Amino acid sequence: MQSLHELYRIGVGPSSSHSMGPEAAAKKLLCLYPDAEFKITLCGSLALTGKGHGTDTVLNRVLGDKVTVIFDTDTTDLPHPNTMFVSVYQGGNEIAKHTVLSVGGGKICFVGEEIASVPEIYSLNSFEEIKAYVKANDMRLCDYVFETEPDMKEYLYTVWEQMKSSLKEGLDAGSGELPGGLKVLRKAGYLWHGKHIGETPEIAENRKICAYAYAVAEQNASGGVVVTAPTCGACGVLPAVLYYMKRDKKYTDGQIVNALATAGIIGNLIKTNASISGAECGCQAEIGSACSMAAAGLAELYEMDIEQIEYAAEIAMEHHLGLTCDPVAGLVQIPCIERNAVAAMRAINAVNIANFLTYTRKVSLDTIIRTMYETGRDMSNRYRETSEGGLAKNYKSS
Ligand code: SF4
Repeated sequence: MQSLHELYRIGVGPSSSHSMGPEAAAKKLLCLYPDAEFKITLCGSLALTGKGHGTDTVLNRVLGDKVTVIFDTDTTDLPHPNTMFVSVYQGGNEIAKHTVLSVGGGKICFVGEEIASVPEIYSLNSFEEIKAYVKANDMRLCDYVFETEPDMKEYLYTVWEQMKSSLKEGLDAGSGELPGGLKVLRKAGYLWHGKHIGETPEIAENRKICAYAYAVAEQNASGGVVVTAPTCGACGVLPAVLYYMKRDKKYTDGQIVNALATAGIIGNLIKTNASISGAECGCQAEIGSACSMAAAGLAELYEMDIEQIEYAAEIAMEHHLGLTCDPVAGLVQIPCIERNAVAAMRAINAVNIANFLTYTRKVSLDTIIRTMYETGRDMSNRYRETSEGGLAKNYKSS
């Protein structure tokens, strides 16, 4: 598996695959060919939802008038659902061609170069292998991360600071409209300051966790800076649960960093053995993965044992199986923002169940990750970030 640097990326929303990845590709192209002009043809999901996700805006922002962006919804024989074909011109002549894949979580692959560019840092690639290793060495999952990547603790402090900033900015952002034309209002502040009639402390806690998830997801939808956890569309789930434990339950930043490491292992396993891309496997790969990561992180904070952490992460993924990606108008707003809040609550429920029922379980985390991938590959293309089916098709504004 690759470094957690590759999983937790800090960048501009609203979409890790549709804005963050293309932005990275454009920057690399500019580096390779500072004096050239570019024709970038967006295909697959990038063509179908790229306008709503601002892919052309990002490319224009980096490459200015040196780029022509084409949305090609006709080509279907593609190496990946998020494919960009790049032609590079100098003096009117084509001097190079690249096929660039935006494979999820902000990661890009220039076809033919990807093997050399990202080293595999972790030698163990399944939860079973990792579990055996940490048990044999009497360590926790987060220790395995810090043993494998000694610089990771420092980076995770940076990640945590950014998660907190995104969340606080979202809570303080007022109630204005999010960009894109759907007239979706920001609701984090409303949830945060609201109160149910006869609100109990427990219901207030649930309301606050939802407000935290909305805050980060709304920052993402407005093109703010977020951390992919594991993607932009699902960036609110993990920070919401962790911020609740920090602010409301008084856990320390050091403990939260350990939780981020544990959550990172889960995200990395899903990324390696399945997918974290909505265009490849539907929303189960984004929100399901985020929920699984948040459940593992929370279980780490509660110092649950490795079997309980596994079960919490497994439950969180199992009950997202089949979740479709059908963002209305190609924007990362409906159903995405609300879905972050629902998944944060589900992560907490998964940990509660795991706390009591771990030793009755029948399904391993590795099995559910494999199942998620197979389910995603079996899904109709309409439900894999194309906005051609489901809610995106039936939505009518009221
Ligand atoms: S529906 Fe899920 S996978 Fe699709 S864009 Fe929204 S958050 Fe991402």
